[in-house]
Amino acid sequence: MGRLAEEIRAVEAAGVEWLHLDVMDGHFVPNLSIGVPVVAGVRRHTRLFLDTHLMITDPGRYAPAFVGAGANGITFHIEAAADPVGLVRQIRGLGVQVGVSLNPGTPPEAIRGVVEEVDLVLVMTVWPGFGGQTFIDGSLARIAEIAGWLRPDQYLEVDGGINTENAAAVARAGADTLVAGSAVFDGRDPAAAVRRLLAAASARSEGRV
Ligand code: ZN
Repeated sequence: MGRLAEEIRAVEAAGVEWLHLDVMDGHFVPNLSIGVPVVAGVRRHTRLFLDTHLMITDPGRYAPAFVGAGANGITFHIEAAADPVGLVRQIRGLGVQVGVSLNPGTPPEAIRGVVEEVDLVLVMTVWPGFGGQTFIDGSLARIAEIAGWLRPDQYLEVDGGINTENAAAVARAGADTLVAGSAVFDGRDPAAAVRRLLAAASARSEGRV
């Protein structure tokens, strides 16, 4: 985190299209991560799309601040939304792309009523809160089920435990957008890791990492 601008430059040069920013509130998930000032700081160092994943209890309350800081997309959790359709419309009114996410324990049916309203569905393949976890077996069937509901103009993004071993299978199941944290930043050369992931994912098609 102390060299964020430098790390962003490295992955940008390697061909990432979006930066996925994980926001945790210590309430919806049992951990804290970055908040509005860090998103604003990242914005000053890149023109990449800032894909902001709000793992927070009250996304509607904080979405305007993240958009003000430079987020291009806001994804909220279905488990944190009392009125998902109303929340999508509220966030869209801020002028950004809107996504809905679901945790591994949440049945895909939970997003059925909102799926037509969103630009993106984010399938969690680990329990949110901590990096470095292992991709949960059985997630491919969930991805494939949701993929069957989406229009071609909607994104299907997968977050949690993505690496060069599973990227092709996740893409084959229907994902077009892969989030990678540890697989990129734990090694010595983030740019090389991005290129390996893109090559693995594009075993199926063009991939976004
Ligand atoms: Zn995320």
